Amino acid sequence: MADDEILRSNPTGDDAVYDEQIRPKRLDEFPGQQAIKDKLNIAIQAAKQRSEPLDHLLMSGPPGLGKTTLARIIAQEMGVDIKSTSGPVVERQADLSAILTSLEEFDVLFIDEIHRLNNAVEETLYSAMEDFEVDIMLGKGPTARSLKIGLKPFTLIGATTRAGLLTAPLRARFGDVCRFEFYSPAELRAIVLRSARIFNVPIDSDGALEIASRSRGTARVANRLLRRVRDYAQVKSDGAITRELADAALKLLRIDDLGLDDMDKAIIRTVIDKFNGGPVGISSLAVAIGEESQTLEEVHEPFLIQLGFIKRTPQGRVATPLAYKHFGLQAPPSEDQPPLF
Ligand code: ADP
Repeated sequence: MADDEILRSNPTGDDAVYDEQIRPKRLDEFPGQQAIKDKLNIAIQAAKQRSEPLDHLLMSGPPGLGKTTLARIIAQEMGVDIKSTSGPVVERQADLSAILTSLEEFDVLFIDEIHRLNNAVEETLYSAMEDFEVDIMLGKGPTARSLKIGLKPFTLIGATTRAGLLTAPLRARFGDVCRFEFYSPAELRAIVLRSARIFNVPIDSDGALEIASRSRGTARVANRLLRRVRDYAQVKSDGAITRELADAALKLLRIDDLGLDDMDKAIIRTVIDKFNGGPVGISSLAVAIGEESQTLEEVHEPFLIQLGFIKRTPQGRVATPLAYKHFGLQAPPSEDQPPLF
């Protein structure tokens, strides 16, 4: 399986079926993101007691950390329906109005990649979020007129991998922001053990931790790697996953001890080898690697920054001494340090 498939955000075919089975359905089945869960628990209870919709929520963070899953859980816990769409899909104001007018009281509208809504659609969202109203255009040309239509109170949950790209007016209309963090190995181990239980895959705690530690802090990656390791265990041994077996399977997938895959390694090596350690702009880097700059920025870079391998500076991306060390290379002397003589 190619790396981009392991990180890919939209599951298809088999993956989608697998995804559905293991997606946690309730808040207490969702390991990790404790700060967000604590906050949501209170907000959900309070909204239910007051018989009000939950405040509009913005969820931000790298892909695969559970934003969509948590949005569905919120709807479930509130006892309402959820309708899902995504920024680039809603092209016209009329598309958004149609979705909004179909919502029942307190329903959740989930918009993934909300930073990619076009301006006209985004503006329609403002009055919908603030006053539960939309303007609908009737007719065309000089005789066209607009009609205000009231909406049932609803909750908008917007998800974004690029919170910085959200416009200020849109951001201001959210009651709260949930910032998703990378999972710790212990949290990912709990996720792997839970998924393995659902699939009846025998796995010990060390085997689960091995997969967890090499999953780039990401729930989606942990589940995908579990699936690959399960295949390996079935073919190469008795089906049980131990630490040694997980290690052998992940080596075969070219996933290193830190969870870096071929693309991560290519990014760091390109900054070091072709750009002398940087700084290099994201678009030059993308061209040199042959990958979309958006994928680099949203999928790969957050984890490399978290590991402390790449630094973002106003001049561009820079490889850190830690990155050089990981590849057994000598870092050039830092310009911040005074010369020795
Ligand atoms: P995002 O919307 O942030 O890209 P998703 O909610 O689609 O992420 O989650 C990606 C995959 O990871 C799904 O298969 C989901 O079931 C799984 N997942 C995410 N968070 C958790 C978690 N805390 N526990 C178990 N599985 C999780």
